[in-house]
Amino acid sequence: MTRPTVLIVEDEREIADLVQFHLQRAGFDASIAHRGKAALEFIRKTPPDVVVLDLMLPDLDGLEICRRIRASDEHRRIGVIMVTAKGDEADVVAGIELGADDYLSKPFSPRVLVARVKSVLRRSADAKPAAPRRIDLAGGRLGVDPERHVTTIDGKPVELTLTEFGMLHFLALRPGFVRTRDQIITAVHGRNVVLSSRTVDVHMTALRRKMGELGALIETVRGVGYRFAEGDAASVE
Ligand code: CA
Repeated sequence: MTRPTVLIVEDEREIADLVQFHLQRAGFDASIAHRGKAALEFIRKTPPDVVVLDLMLPDLDGLEICRRIRASDEHRRIGVIMVTAKGDEADVVAGIELGADDYLSKPFSPRVLVARVKSVLRRSADAKPAAPRRIDLAGGRLGVDPERHVTTIDGKPVELTLTEFGMLHFLALRPGFVRTRDQIITAVHGRNVVLSSRTVDVHMTALRRKMGELGALIETVRGVGYRFAEGDAASVE
């Protein structure tokens, strides 16, 4: 089996070297690009499995690199982990809406980064064409059936509104993925529900309350949006 490849796009050489060291020690084939244009050239020639992308680069905006990766048929499956300056939630929101898989804020622990890279690789390996099928989470305690439009907790049906059901289904499809309020609105809008950014939070509060203790599985990601807790989908017996 070939080693998964990671491209580190980072102009700060010390950080790039440190990240490369830890990724290589974890068994990845890790390369470095110190500039955005060099990164695009590298991706074109030898598309990696995952890009660790610093958003602040001297020559190109990291968000632009993310946009180009996602715009390319050939490269859209590359995992993208953004690296942002602390407190740059606006960039995180923009990046996730452009299709980045995950993000880290500086300073971050190399160990956490390695874990995120593994997680993104696992998710892309698991990615299947979306079919409307029942999702079982929390070790089978929570069931979401998009075809029958039924949610169950411990085998008992939970009465959810269309909006609540839409939000839960959207988040539950990809545990561990942060979704912005706009993404949630777009996903739910397909169900003929009108939802504003402000009211997402209100509906989310109601949804959590109806889910009882399992409501804690819906995590608020401050300044960014919401995600369904990771590790729950597959790991529990
Ligand atoms: Ca930088």
